[in-house]
Amino acid sequence: MKKKQVNSPRTPVYRDAGFELFDADTTKEAFERETENERIPELYIYSRYRNPTVVAAEEEIMKLEGCKWSLLTQSGMSAIDTAVSVFHKGVLTGPWLFFSEIYGGTISFVESVLKKRRGLDIHSFTPVEDKYDLKEFKKLIEKIKPDIVYIETISNPMLIVADVDSVIEIAHKGGSKVIVDNTFATPVLYKPLETGADIVIHSATKYFSGHGNITAGVLCGNDPELMKASIEYRKLIGHMLSPDDAYRLNTQIQTFELRFREQCANADKLTRILGNDPHINKIWYPGLPGHSTHNEARKLFGNRGYGAMITFEFSGKTDSEKKSRRDNFIKSVSGHVKLIPSLGDPKTILMPVASVWAAKYPRPGMIRLSVGFENYAQLEKIIKNALYNA
Ligand code: PLP
Repeated sequence: MKKKQVNSPRTPVYRDAGFELFDADTTKEAFERETENERIPELYIYSRYRNPTVVAAEEEIMKLEGCKWSLLTQSGMSAIDTAVSVFHKGVLTGPWLFFSEIYGGTISFVESVLKKRRGLDIHSFTPVEDKYDLKEFKKLIEKIKPDIVYIETISNPMLIVADVDSVIEIAHKGGSKVIVDNTFATPVLYKPLETGADIVIHSATKYFSGHGNITAGVLCGNDPELMKASIEYRKLIGHMLSPDDAYRLNTQIQTFELRFREQCANADKLTRILGNDPHINKIWYPGLPGHSTHNEARKLFGNRGYGAMITFEFSGKTDSEKKSRRDNFIKSVSGHVKLIPSLGDPKTILMPVASVWAAKYPRPGMIRLSVGFENYAQLEKIIKNALYNA
C-alpha cells in the first residue's frame, strides 16, 4: 500500500467518502477483515465504516476515560441508541431498567422508540425526595432481573448524583449490564468504567467539544465483544460522526480538562452569590451540604469538583411573582448569559426549567445555569446586577 504523509501535527480532515484500495486482492482482504471487525490499521474503506479523522478524536477520548475503545457518533442520542442495541445477539426484548431522572430526550427515546416501536419491556426506577434508595434498587433488580440498567451520574435539572459505584455492583450481582451517561460529570469528576460500567456514553456536544459548535456523541468501553457489536451497529445504522465535526472535536478536546475545571470552579463560586440573595428560595448544586445527594457527590467525585450546572429558584408570594423575578433576571443577563437549550458552552447559558420540563417541574421561578469558563469577575458582576433587578 502506498503511504502519503505530511508533517501535520494533527490528523487532518479526511473528507473522502471512499478510500483508494489499489488492487483486487487488497480490496478482498480489507472487506473480509472489516466484516469480521478486524481492521487493517492504515487501510480505510468507506467513511461510514471508519475514518482517520474520527479515529484520531476517538484516541483522545480513550485517554480521557482510560478505556480500551471509544466510538464517536453524530450525536449523544445516536450513542445512546447504539449502546442499548448491542448487548444482545438475538431479538431485543427487555426487561431493561432506566433510572427515571435522565435527559428528557432519552426519556422520549425510551417511550417512543424502545416501548412503542420496538415493543421492549421497560421499567423505571424513581428517586424518593431527590435521592435514589439503593435498597429499593436491589429489590427491583432481584424482582425484574433486567438485562440492562441505564443511569446518569448527575441528573438534569435537579442534579441528583447517583452512587454509580454501588449501582454497578448491585446490578452486576443481579446479572445486569450497566450503561452510564456521564455527560454532566465528565471523566474529570468520575470514570464509571474504572468500577466496571459496561458502556459509558457522553453527549460530546457538551463538555468534550465545549464550544457549542458541533453535535456529537461517544460510547466508551473495555469489552472487545461490545466494541465489535457497536462498530457493526454504528456502521449499519449510519451513526458515524462526520470528519469535519471529528476534527473540531479533536482540536477542542485538547482544552477540555482545563475548561471543565474552570467551569466547575466558576459554578462553585457562583453558588455563594446565589446563596446570599434574599429572593432565591432554593439552589440545587451537589457541592452544597444541603443538596439531597451531597454525600454521593463527595463519595464519587472526591475533591475534584461538583460539576458546572446549577439550578435555582426565585421566591415569591405567588407564582406570578416568581415568574416575574425569573423573567426580569433572564432579560437583565441576556447580553451576556444567553437562553440556549444546551449546556457546556464557553460562556454561561441558561434555561427556564418550567418552559421545557413543565410536566415534571412546573415551578415558574426555576432557572438552570450551565456555567462557562469566561472571566469570573465579569460573570459575577452581571449575575449580581441581574439579581438586583429581579
Ligand atoms: N445525555 C445528556 C445528559 C444530555 O443532556 C443530552 C442532551 O442534552 C444527551 C444525552 C443527548 O445528546 P445530543 O443532544 O448530543 O444528542
